[in-house]
Amino acid sequence: MVRRVASSDALQVRFWGTRGSTCASGPQFVEFGSHTPCVEVRCGERLFILDAGTGLSSLGMDLGPNAPEKIDILLSHLHLDHISGLPFFKPALLSTERVIRTYCGHLEGESAMEPLGRLFAPPLFPVRLGQLPARFEYHGFRAGEPITFDDGTRIETHLLNHPGGATGYRLSHSGRSVCYISDVEHSDPWPDPDLAAFVRDTDLMIFDGMFSDAEYSYCRGWGHSTWQKGVELSKAAGVKALAIFHLYPGHDDAYLKAAEAEMQAVMPTAFMARERQFIAFEPADDETVADRGETAKVPAI
Ligand SMILES: [Zn+2]
Ligand SMILES: [Zn+2]
Repeated sequence: MVRRVASSDALQVRFWGTRGSTCASGPQFVEFGSHTPCVEVRCGERLFILDAGTGLSSLGMDLGPNAPEKIDILLSHLHLDHISGLPFFKPALLSTERVIRTYCGHLEGESAMEPLGRLFAPPLFPVRLGQLPARFEYHGFRAGEPITFDDGTRIETHLLNHPGGATGYRLSHSGRSVCYISDVEHSDPWPDPDLAAFVRDTDLMIFDGMFSDAEYSYCRGWGHSTWQKGVELSKAAGVKALAIFHLYPGHDDAYLKAAEAEMQAVMPTAFMARERQFIAFEPADDETVADRGETAKVPAI
């Protein structure tokens, strides 16, 4: 099991997959990792999982039999890089008592049940999610509406500019907050005032900065943004720290480290998210703790 050092009431974040679109592999992709989007967020002991990309398999192995009986997976949207880890999530295989609840906000209130059922079925996949030991539940909502859970936890949501739509999330705990803004393409003009209001003053914004401004003219309309636009939004909205996420699989460690240095020259609390990187925010009255985990080498926030 990976190391966790924060107090039991901290807001904690661990990245299990930071790549966008598809995995990266090879000796030049070690520092920032391979897996597609999956982020573990703990509000105290309460677990939330943001997206179910291939990183979900690593998170599942880490949780193992100690996983909670009820697990909530907040999906940004259903593009393959955000859901392909679902049938490889080990806690789904270990208990018939477990309930795995998915939340989907970009389908006008419809849940992910029907599209996931089409994908995870022969001939595209040998097993249906309904055949796994755990019970899957599918909840639909409209991005922009808050989600309230049965334990009273409330999470804010926001519709993002992405082909077919995507949902951004804002999770708050003990006076701290983290915003998950993936996948998104910036608008013109930028920053978008509604998105800026949604992320205002957050402790950490995880942002789709797949490309650089120099690359963007080739990928306009693909539904992704740049690290420079992430910095612009952060500065306009008082975002305290910025994690660039949904990293392009063609950007190797050397590229990302150079881009990170360039970015930190204009926003010292910004960094490129690394797989397995861990960040903890102690309750607002206490000092922020930032333990970067096994691979991280970024400045304190
Ligand atoms: Zn994506
Ligand atoms: Zn997408």
